[in-house]
Amino acid sequence: MKPPAKRGEASAQARRTTAHAEPHPVLRVQDLFMIYGEGDAQVQALRGVSLDVYQGDYVAIMGASGSGKSTLMNILGCLDVPTSGRYLIDGVDVGALDERRLAILRNRKIGFVFQSFNLIPRMSALANVELPLTYGGVGTAERRTRALAALDQVGLADRIHHDPNQLSGGQQQRVAVARALVTAPALLLADEPTGNLDTKSTADVLEILDQLNDSGRTIVLITHEDDVAAHAKRVIRLVDGQIIDDLRQAPVDGPPPRPLKAAR
Ligand code: ADP
Ligand code: MG
Repeated sequence: MKPPAKRGEASAQARRTTAHAEPHPVLRVQDLFMIYGEGDAQVQALRGVSLDVYQGDYVAIMGASGSGKSTLMNILGCLDVPTSGRYLIDGVDVGALDERRLAILRNRKIGFVFQSFNLIPRMSALANVELPLTYGGVGTAERRTRALAALDQVGLADRIHHDPNQLSGGQQQRVAVARALVTAPALLLADEPTGNLDTKSTADVLEILDQLNDSGRTIVLITHEDDVAAHAKRVIRLVDGQIIDDLRQAPVDGPPPRPLKAAR
């Protein structure tokens, strides 16, 4: 018979094995509430949202205008703090971090793509993509190399010296995607990334997101359009600040679905 100490070791081993078999989610939110305003003017934008997203997933969040999508996205991106509830990124409790640590986490773990591109005007595509690395304290030479690789990945190697106003909407959004992925974040968040784009540019941007997800990047995007959501592996619907539907369209560890009806 084994002495008790050995059994303790064995179960510690088992726990480690279990921990390895079930990695913590890239993103975990538990019972999020977001209440804006007070009294009669009070709005409950989120009412008890809980959600786990594992590495390699591709999640589309859908819902009518005012259902809480952007509120949720801003919390996921650490741009806003919920009224109550917990949020963990890669196992780290965001609510427990001070401003400095939060800024570092945001810089290293999250890439954000906005509907309106949000590029800095009068700065080249290359300089825009280098920016998060500048904030992250990466040296000049490595910054240049990584920004060029990211721009190449979105098919803009021949536009690196163009300013945003010399690029089409679709090209600007591809620069924004390059800027989001240049830090190799665990999580790519996109709030209506194709909302301002024509059909062809939408198809281009979705193809890039599909490729990123194919290579293991975790993506959460907001969209109004069924064609866009068809690219995701999982579709979550929000109504009045609550998740009312959570549908898996493809396995987390497989390739993203190839929509029958292409967006182009
Ligand atoms: P969606 O992105 O789905 O359109 P939002 O998250 O922007 O929805 O908004 C959810 C609800 O919260 C809406 O009723 C909206 O009016 C309200 N809301 C959003 N931001 C604020 C704010 N800063 N102050 C007060 N109310 C807000
Ligand atoms: Mg919104």
